[in-house]
Amino acid sequence: MVYDMTQTPKILSFKMPAEATPLGFRPRPVRTLLDVKRLRKHFPHGESPAVERVSFDLGEGEMLALLGPSGCGKTTTLRMIGGFETPDEGCVLLRERDITELPPEARGIGFVFQDYALFPHLSVLDNVKFGLRRQPRAESEARARQMLDLVGLKGLDKRKPHELSGGQQQRVALARTLAVAPPLVLMDEPFSNLDAAMRVETRQDVRKLLKEAGSAAILVTHDQEEAMAVADRIAVMDRGRVVQIGTPDEIYRNPVSAFVASFLGRSNILRGTANGMEVQTSFGNLPLSRAANGAVSLSVRPEQIMLERDPDGTASVVGREFRGHDQLYWVQQGDHCILVISGAGATLNVGDRVQLRICDCVVPLA
Ligand code: ADP
Ligand code: MG
Repeated sequence: MVYDMTQTPKILSFKMPAEATPLGFRPRPVRTLLDVKRLRKHFPHGESPAVERVSFDLGEGEMLALLGPSGCGKTTTLRMIGGFETPDEGCVLLRERDITELPPEARGIGFVFQDYALFPHLSVLDNVKFGLRRQPRAESEARARQMLDLVGLKGLDKRKPHELSGGQQQRVALARTLAVAPPLVLMDEPFSNLDAAMRVETRQDVRKLLKEAGSAAILVTHDQEEAMAVADRIAVMDRGRVVQIGTPDEIYRNPVSAFVASFLGRSNILRGTANGMEVQTSFGNLPLSRAANGAVSLSVRPEQIMLERDPDGTASVVGREFRGHDQLYWVQQGDHCILVISGAGATLNVGDRVQLRICDCVVPLA
């Protein structure tokens, strides 16, 4: 079929149904799988609750990342969903059934633990067959082999876990979990034991396998790049609460607070005086991404700033980091030290006078 590119292809321009939430828009999932409602957990002797009023839902087959710094309550949230921790308040619904009181093994949820929890004395094949032990032997054998094939470990079925690399062990753990076709898989920092290159490769494989199996997943991570790379949506947590939830794009482009702006990517936080869709700053009047009024903090991404060499410029380069595909510059303008990401083209040096221009909407923060 040949498209006339001068015409808007009607069939491609449909709109996804969007659902308004207080924190953003998102495509409505086909069907809700999991509903987490106002979960709370205050450990004895804890200064404040580890998890406070955490609510979100998850569609069938959707992949959500719980992202936040160490100690913000990600693992505790995941453990309450899995049944390893009892919430003080709130409930967990799986396909509309209240599972809050059920033990882990009665929930029908799969887990991939950080240390993979493989049985060291069992072969790869027997590890994968473990979850299928209630099935007839021939069936479980066939299913386990199919799963090993799916995760790319065909031919390694007789090996013991210690004879595999970290990435391969991760795949065995995933094959074992997916063998029983759980509607939901919970993963707590599943890539943290892998080296950097392996991590990038494995996380894409894991996403693909989950999608192929049709399983939804919640991935706990403190790595923003990992969350953006694999998740359909991200829930950003801070001190026990979910502070923003949305697609990686939405959150990156429209962070609600300085915390989110700086945790998901890098951001310059400026001050300004807003008047509707415009804000007055030391960089001149700039358009806002959403309306605001009065004194505001603003998020400006380093790649939204243009840097030009200018002997009469009011700013100067105070630091530089060459990264191959681009370069980072730290530029002093008045009291502000501004981070700029610039193409790999012409190089500026520390001490060079420059002019900064912001060439995009800036985001007002709460
Ligand atoms: P994260 O996974 O985001 O790093 P956690 O959920 O593990 O965070 O921990 C959240 C908070 O709860 C931390 O302050 C941690 O010290 C505390 N915490 C976690 N588990 C327990 C426990 N079993 N007993 C007491 N405090 C705990
Ligand atoms: Mg944790």
